[in-house]
Amino acid sequence: GSKGNRRVVRTSMKTPRRTVLGAALAMPFGARAQGRARVLVVGGGFGGATCARALHRAGVNVTLIEPATEYWSCPFSNPVIAGLRDRAAQRFTYDGLRAAGVPIIAARATAFDPVARTVRVGDTDQPYDRLVLSPGVDMNEAALPGYSAALAEQYPHAWKGSAQNMLLQKQLEAMPDGGTVVMSVPPNPYRCPPGPYERASLIAHYLKTHKPRSKLLVLDAKDAFSKQKLFQAAWAELYPGILEWVGLSAGGRVTAIDPDGTLQTEFGSHRGDVVNPIPPQRAAAVATPVADRTGWCPVDPISFESRLAPGVHVIGDAAMMGAMPKSAFAAGAQGKVCADAIVALLAGQPPETPRLINTCYSMVAPGYGISVAGVYRPVNGQLVDIESAGGTSPLEAPPEVRAQEAAYAEEWYRTATAEAFG
Ligand code: FAD
Repeated sequence: GSKGNRRVVRTSMKTPRRTVLGAALAMPFGARAQGRARVLVVGGGFGGATCARALHRAGVNVTLIEPATEYWSCPFSNPVIAGLRDRAAQRFTYDGLRAAGVPIIAARATAFDPVARTVRVGDTDQPYDRLVLSPGVDMNEAALPGYSAALAEQYPHAWKGSAQNMLLQKQLEAMPDGGTVVMSVPPNPYRCPPGPYERASLIAHYLKTHKPRSKLLVLDAKDAFSKQKLFQAAWAELYPGILEWVGLSAGGRVTAIDPDGTLQTEFGSHRGDVVNPIPPQRAAAVATPVADRTGWCPVDPISFESRLAPGVHVIGDAAMMGAMPKSAFAAGAQGKVCADAIVALLAGQPPETPRLINTCYSMVAPGYGISVAGVYRPVNGQLVDIESAGGTSPLEAPPEVRAQEAAYAEEWYRTATAEAFG
């Protein structure tokens, strides 16, 4: 079982070689520059950047591998689509990390060898003692027949990257009043469980305020979703006659997309003037060797070490360890816990059992925020939601409470991006 698995992984850390490296790490670094264990972090998003910074702060010899010169943040990207937020507020450079002294290789990792303990970057093999993968997600196009990177240029998912986000924003702007927007939502798990419903809310807000004769149809592969009661109450109050949500049992599951953007379901087909299919996802390509057949990377919830390859840790959206949702908040928290675990492992110590916290904020209109929070701890090799430790915003609340949550969301964003990008 998974418990036994974890024990095997832990035991393997106590080989003589690890202990020697651990001893080297415990010494003042200047004195032992030669013998220092090296950690590589692949992917400088919320998970990887936060982890690399935490490792560096703890005195670990860490290098970040990230090809992009600018990170584009998905949190708060839905307000950008709805014209409520400046696109520039989503952009972060790596200057902060560099200034903090974190070395960065500005190139893509194309492969890694968990036996030789090297990562392929360009035509070099970068050696590591421990590897952290935080590459995020790729769209799983095979799981939405007909969809492809080429078709996404016409019917954007807008689920990662600035270009896709901008395309959807421009299409909404260009759509005439009286048009129909159709979006599709995948089954669990996927990046940002409440994200599609925040997007639906803010697109509905855009239509209501700019194109009031228009409609938004949301086709969902699920009957239940994150913060459902809160979203649906807000939709009934704010967007009646504009936003229509169709769940799984009413025929909402999209089974294919045609070249002309028609979305097929088991109950019929839907066309829109703007089509936003959010396809199923999987761990980004570089993590495929440590993903299982679900497409995600199973990890130990204490160390975030892969169940499939010792010495390789996976954090953030790409990882799978139980109940914790795929969010930037979670990725950052995992980045810090993983850094602590690596410091302990390099010193020949067992990592401490963590508790992880997540909060997902969503905007349903300007100045109207809602949230869901959870606390997670490892139980039998999985992160488990501690009952009654978290919870959602109250269903009935005055506007001041919603406005306060919107302000908390902004505050979280400032903190999370500072911890990652400084
Ligand atoms: P990412 O942040 O995607 O980072 C991955 C990085 O890895 C990228 O920089 C990429 O360039 C790099 N990379 C990939 N492959 C390689 C390779 N081969 N070599 C080197 N580098 C590589 N979360 C929240 O907490 N709050 C929110 O309000 C919120 N809103 C969202 C709204 C939307 C519309 C969406 C789509 C997501 C939202 N999220 C939110 C979720 C959040 O964006 C993700 O959970 C988070 O980005 C995951 O972090 P990560 O480090 O796993 O991956």
